[in-house]
Amino acid sequence: MRTEDIFALGLGLAQPWKLLNQRLDTEKIPHELHLEIGADRGTGYPCPRCGKTCKAHDFQDFTWRHLNFFQHHCYLTGRVPRIECPEHGIRRVEVPWARPGSNFTLLFEQVVMTLAREMPVATIADFVGTTDKRLWRVINHYVAEAMQRLDISGLEAFGLDETACKRGHRYVTIFIDLDREERPVIFVTEGKGKETVRRFRDHLLVKGGQPERVLEVVSDMSGSFVAAVGEHFPKAEVTVDWFHVVQLFTKAVEEVRKAEARERALPKGTRWGVLKGRETAKTQTQAEALQELEGEAFATGIAYRIKEQLRWIRRAETGQAAKWRATNFLNYAREQIGCEPLLSPMAKALRSFEKHLDRILFRWRSWHTNARLEGLNGLFQAARARARGYRNVANFITMIYLIAAPLGDLFVM
Ligand SMILES: [Zn+2]
Repeated sequence: MRTEDIFALGLGLAQPWKLLNQRLDTEKIPHELHLEIGADRGTGYPCPRCGKTCKAHDFQDFTWRHLNFFQHHCYLTGRVPRIECPEHGIRRVEVPWARPGSNFTLLFEQVVMTLAREMPVATIADFVGTTDKRLWRVINHYVAEAMQRLDISGLEAFGLDETACKRGHRYVTIFIDLDREERPVIFVTEGKGKETVRRFRDHLLVKGGQPERVLEVVSDMSGSFVAAVGEHFPKAEVTVDWFHVVQLFTKAVEEVRKAEARERALPKGTRWGVLKGRETAKTQTQAEALQELEGEAFATGIAYRIKEQLRWIRRAETGQAAKWRATNFLNYAREQIGCEPLLSPMAKALRSFEKHLDRILFRWRSWHTNARLEGLNGLFQAARARARGYRNVANFITMIYLIAAPLGDLFVM
């Protein structure tokens, strides 16, 4: 077999294309291998619309970055004609080794997509010796195509949560299908609050779904989400995720601790001790801090004890038992808080808890697991790391899809 044939095989070249020439440019570091592709003079080419073989009208030179050949960067160059089809006029011929408009070969793009699932895009760019901006274009293309193919028309239950893009103030809201065990993300949009719920409803309609079929929505306690769900998904019951209940009280305890620390010295280890709780306290110091907090009249200790009562509610086996425990919890907590100004963040958390109690208790009737949204947090972190230096929100959204959406085969032609 001749070298030309081996290269042609590796590139998937088919009639009328063939390898015309190869040349190693040793002046460049790393060296560049250039493969020149073309066809015989007078060859006919298929019209990209109808496939009819037509004569070339004119030619233009194109270059595509291909997979490295050992340590050498490899480029394909080719004169690609426009044909003149009697029916469709003058059109650029499509080549079998690259997508129209791309500066990379399909094989190169496949490798990029495989790597993008495993490592930061900036790292891939260094590795293959190109810019991350160019790689993002490729990744955005394949992910968008796959999301286009995704069927969500049967959606009956979804969860939503928001997360910050970077350290700034830009947010994205993520929607997950609660009936998908793996890769549950079906829609991500910039922003937060009720506008995002409307956008998701519109998206669902475009994808052939029916908002009236949605019977359950899991969200946090933000009033704007709850109201927007009621407006756009009329049959849906809103469940407040237990994870968000814990988060609400954890934040309140932290506020109490900060305020109290400004007034008096707290036991060493308090911060992480109250965060982790007695069952998971990691160090001796943390455990001792909890003991000391409970022994003396620290506001932080009271706040912590209130938060810990949530575990007792969660362990309830029926909705009725949970309701009874929640009522007891509210009374107990109010009594503990009294009029202590340091504990006002706890009082505020309690008001939210009471206001959303029905939605919180709905989890005992729900057939969807409530651990889903909690799992999303790890995912956001992974997406942020993978998209390091991702330049814009669109890239961040693409990375979330790539990691957690049911994309299926990315290379469907
Ligand atoms: Zn045609």
